[in-house]
Amino acid sequence: MDLSAHPCEDFFRFTCGNFEVEHPRPDSQTSHDWFTEKQSKVLRDIKKKLQSTSINSEHNDEPDAVVKAKMLFKSCLNSALNDKLQFDPLFRLLGDFGLPKLPSIIENPTTNDVKLQWIKIIAKVKRSLGVDILMGFDVFTDPMNRTHQYLAFGTPSQEDGLPLIDDILAKRLRRVRRKISSSVEAKKQESSDYETEGSEVVLAAYATYMKEVISAITMKTNAAELYAENILNAIKVTIDISREVFIYVERAENASKAEIRGGNVSELVYIKVADLQKIIDDDVSSPSSVLETYLTEILSGIKEAQFDFDNDVILTSKADILYLKLVMKLIYQLPPIHLEMFIWWSVVEDLILYTTTSMRHLYYDYSKAVTGVDGAVSRQSYCSATVNKLMGFAVSYLILEDDFMIKTKPKVEKMLHNIRMAFENLVRHATWMDLETKESTLKKSQRMKSLIGFPDWILNKTSLESHYEPIKIKNDTWMKNIVELLTWSFVEKLSKWRMKHEFEWATSPTNVNAFHTFQANAITIPLAILQFPFYQLGLEALNYGSIGSILAHELTHGFDDIGRHFDEEGNKNYWWTETTVKNFVNRTECFKKQYSNYILPDIGEYINGETTLGENIADNGGVREAYYAYNYYVQSVGKEQKLPGTKKYSCDMICFTGFESYSHEQMFFISYGNLWCETMTESGLRFALDDTHCPGRIRLLGALSNFKEFHKAFECYPGQKYHKTKDETCIIW
Ligand SMILES: [Zn+2]
Repeated sequence: MDLSAHPCEDFFRFTCGNFEVEHPRPDSQTSHDWFTEKQSKVLRDIKKKLQSTSINSEHNDEPDAVVKAKMLFKSCLNSALNDKLQFDPLFRLLGDFGLPKLPSIIENPTTNDVKLQWIKIIAKVKRSLGVDILMGFDVFTDPMNRTHQYLAFGTPSQEDGLPLIDDILAKRLRRVRRKISSSVEAKKQESSDYETEGSEVVLAAYATYMKEVISAITMKTNAAELYAENILNAIKVTIDISREVFIYVERAENASKAEIRGGNVSELVYIKVADLQKIIDDDVSSPSSVLETYLTEILSGIKEAQFDFDNDVILTSKADILYLKLVMKLIYQLPPIHLEMFIWWSVVEDLILYTTTSMRHLYYDYSKAVTGVDGAVSRQSYCSATVNKLMGFAVSYLILEDDFMIKTKPKVEKMLHNIRMAFENLVRHATWMDLETKESTLKKSQRMKSLIGFPDWILNKTSLESHYEPIKIKNDTWMKNIVELLTWSFVEKLSKWRMKHEFEWATSPTNVNAFHTFQANAITIPLAILQFPFYQLGLEALNYGSIGSILAHELTHGFDDIGRHFDEEGNKNYWWTETTVKNFVNRTECFKKQYSNYILPDIGEYINGETTLGENIADNGGVREAYYAYNYYVQSVGKEQKLPGTKKYSCDMICFTGFESYSHEQMFFISYGNLWCETMTESGLRFALDDTHCPGRIRLLGALSNFKEFHKAFECYPGQKYHKTKDETCIIW
């Protein structure tokens, strides 16, 4: 805390003033907050457990799943073996996919003899790695009926299951590349975008990275110098194609944005594969059957998942069809030798990190050039994060607390009960909702499921073992094990597409975060977030301010600008009256305006009030509901004691002198403020602008300046930064 700051003028500095000093940002991150700090701690605990006890101990009664996780960890750590094998595992895999070790454009650029079964290759890659190339494919829950699933075609997903060195970093790198590519189009329209300024540097860094990786691979098969010119040409070809693809994705997204925000479900398309093929081939001279080939390939051998082309339909959307048309036209026009290069690089780019130490260092250099921070982490940390990502439930078994189910869970459930009561009370008193909508809103809130801690089944050795039963982890190469796990997880998904869809945990219990799933009307609160300083703070006023407002934030998502389109079953539906929708939209305008006016002085950029709307609604509702829920707690249990001074109180907790002089209400807000403490580099702030969440300082300012109970607690008055007058206040819940 920084007591020299006035809470009504700069509550962020007041609560977070010393955060930077006490919690230095690790060199490998562009931003640091409680969530990342605690996630690192969880991963450190996991690392210790994965290292402990030998795998082959005879008295080992650990579930087989845990043994597999430990073996996976070991194979990750075996850098010596991975370095010795060099690119052999990569070459073998490329061969399995039907790709050459080196693309023809490098080895033999004048050849006219490239026979590329591109559609089969991208289907194989998807099945083995879960990665989309050029075309997106997945199993989707039907938005109109969540118990049904469909196979779906569309834009390629930006996210995949590959465990990269740092997921957040990887996501950012992808986003930067995409932004640069599409900003080329923006430039044409003479719009100015700050990203275009640095784009030359980023693009150059990417090209250098490509060159180094490709040269290293070329060296293994032949002399790289010999092909130097070919390599440069290959890089140019690849970047041009990916730029084109990014632009198509952008176009499709822009086309669908208006539809989604307006709640229009007419954009969904349920269609037979042959009919979709006809539409996307509309602009090309010779019609094909690539979609059928893709499906046949990806489902081959999975008996329960077979597709009936005469009767089954797949799911797509108007925007996705627009994308597919554009990309097919591009694919048909490309010389096969270019297409081969693009697909080859897409696979190599994803897999190169699982080869040698020197390849990982190239990646660090590249990410440093783009983000300004050194992305290198220790091998041990990387391996534990990866095992956690791929085998989260097995790993959770290692860190479970025995008494969680009897001690902690009921307390969290009680808190959630009070929060629900507070939310429902706000709904009952809302002046902008009519009775009919209020009733269905209350019904949805009461039906909302909550998954807290971890699923029961992981406590049961047999069910945990059977969950991971099909996977074979060998004392083998790292890449092979990774592919085994990725293939298992995607084939599992495919094999279930015809079955009734049951909602499962949105995340692994080891994730320091919380989630709302629109399509299940459910919130997930993993075990890992139920720790200090989110929970276990010693006083309920502090707990409600922290984890309480997170629970309430997730609950409120069910009723934000997207959540309101899903009914109590999680199906997309019209369940609000038109008048209420109109009033709601009016109120969202207030939030958009409020947040769009906030500037981040360090980089001179404004917040995007449009893209952050859903999160801002959840933040504002969340803090209000948690506050009133705490009142319910006090009503039923009685007033809590105040915290003793720091001398008697553990300094592990929020630690500063004179805590005893604060009221419970003030402590509630201090705990809430502490939640959003963070430090960010300039590039971190820029990345944050792309996020649907505002940076912590804005989250605090936005939600608290709208909340009269905060003004009361700290005696703020009009004119101060954290005090908005009644007329200016934005409120939905
Ligand atoms: Zn949220």
